[in-house]
Amino acid sequence: MERRKFLTGAALGTAATTLAAPAVAASHAKTMTIVSTWPRDFPGLGVSAQRLAARITELSEGAIQTEYFAAGERVGALDVFDEVASGNSQAYIGADYYWVGKHPALAYFTAVPFGMTFTEINAWIRFGGGRELWDKVQDQFGLYGLPAGNTGTQAGGWFNKEIESGDDFKGLKMRIPGLGGQVLAKLGASTVSLPGGQIYENLVSGTIDATEWVGPYNDYFMKFYEAAKYYYTGGMHEPGSQLSLTMNKSWWSSLTPTEQAIVTAAAHEENGNQYFETMALNGEYLAKLVNEHGVEVRSFNEDVWDAMGEAAEEVFAEIASYDALAEEVNNAVQDKMREIGEGLALFEGQFVNQRNRILGL
Ligand code: CA
Repeated sequence: MERRKFLTGAALGTAATTLAAPAVAASHAKTMTIVSTWPRDFPGLGVSAQRLAARITELSEGAIQTEYFAAGERVGALDVFDEVASGNSQAYIGADYYWVGKHPALAYFTAVPFGMTFTEINAWIRFGGGRELWDKVQDQFGLYGLPAGNTGTQAGGWFNKEIESGDDFKGLKMRIPGLGGQVLAKLGASTVSLPGGQIYENLVSGTIDATEWVGPYNDYFMKFYEAAKYYYTGGMHEPGSQLSLTMNKSWWSSLTPTEQAIVTAAAHEENGNQYFETMALNGEYLAKLVNEHGVEVRSFNEDVWDAMGEAAEEVFAEIASYDALAEEVNNAVQDKMREIGEGLALFEGQFVNQRNRILGL
């Protein structure tokens, strides 16, 4: 019991290196240095990453000793990819779309505009051919990733003016990474990809006019409402962003089958937990944003959606022309999304739409 209580403390933010004496002698334990794109103790994403690091040590009974470094503690947030590809650290926790500059197909394993939701991307990766394609993309860099969290459908973003047509994006300086940023760039926005820890200062100083981040629970703690009062509901850019625990593949291959199974189980557990936690809290935190801070909630109208849809088509055509692998991944996602999405629409979608109508939601 004592050990379990201690581990709970670790999951709340203490570095996993402080875990109690493990069942495996320290001299035989494997060290797993994990670097992350999220600031330490960051509500939502950061806490989730720390929880996963602690859980791997716990489930392995100390055979794998994780050392967790938040953004900037070992390397900068966006440097974690190179850190792990080079073998300096064993794993990163982050969002693969930060590195579309390495290969554009990486975006498809976080989220792409008008792409897959939480249910869809997990169905694709685990049972629909996505795993094999993720391997192909990551093999180029000597990496191996596992799903390790999901934000759900993200908010359209924070703006200091209302967005009523595609033209309203012209000249807008917005923080929006990945292919979503490329879509808004087609509409005339000037987009940047800042890590989470740098967005607030840039928004308050006016260096950027607008930003997206995640959704009500995660966004509440960012205090964007101090500089932008219009908050848009679900956007096109990140329908269900998958976070990953991505490991150096040589290190991953050096693990025993049991150790690999433990790391996989821990990642799968956090993949669900992070998403379910967010879903449980989004409604409550949206109400707090409105009631405590006077945030005005808006939804994009159909003209805006259509403009973004046309721009997204151009972006996908460019991705597909990058190389054969990018084309293969893009086409697989577009095909599989329609297949999985149709099944969901006809059953869960039909039900949820009618239930919500009757409940007046
Ligand atoms: Ca986002």
